[in-house]
Amino acid sequence: MTRDHIFHEHGFGKVAPWVDLVNSEEWDGFGKRKDHLADPYWIDAFLKHWKLHPAQSNHPPRRELLQLRDVLRRAAGKFSVGRSLSRQELSKLNRALNVPTRQKLVQHQNGFRSEVVPVRSDWSWVVARIAASLGEMLANGDVERVKICANGDCRWVFYDPTKARIKRWCKDSTCGNRARVRRARAAEKRTA
Ligand SMILES: [Zn+2]
Repeated sequence: MTRDHIFHEHGFGKVAPWVDLVNSEEWDGFGKRKDHLADPYWIDAFLKHWKLHPAQSNHPPRRELLQLRDVLRRAAGKFSVGRSLSRQELSKLNRALNVPTRQKLVQHQNGFRSEVVPVRSDWSWVVARIAASLGEMLANGDVERVKICANGDCRWVFYDPTKARIKRWCKDSTCGNRARVRRARAAEKRTA
């Protein structure tokens, strides 16, 4: 992935595959939108980073990915205001998770390990893994820290690691700063 493929240095691959998929629809902070799902380089970088490359490499199923992204963004919006998934959203996620798998016993240096592997390592498995990454965060209670940048022209989904969960912007130096400048200007106008 080159710099041309991202608007700003938001960071990629920091939280979970599902967060990156949501952020593949990116705004530059001023309202200009870019869809990285249309970019094969982005998709390749995404798959490489999360080690999700399907063994049977068929074309990315654009419609399924867009549908999943849509559900995931709505979910992120809800988590960011302390709400949970609707029954409909849950069943959409379960549909994405519904791929045939099998157990496999793997021997390593210190013994054995049981693994769940896909019956077919294709894009439906990738989609399932993306959905599963949200499932894991839900099960761990981590989604309470999922936020959407308070800059309405940015909407970047991020993970708030602060103890008090007070982070409002994807980045203080960009969106946070912009909001402060805007507030200062508004205050100047009021006193002028
Ligand atoms: Zn932002």
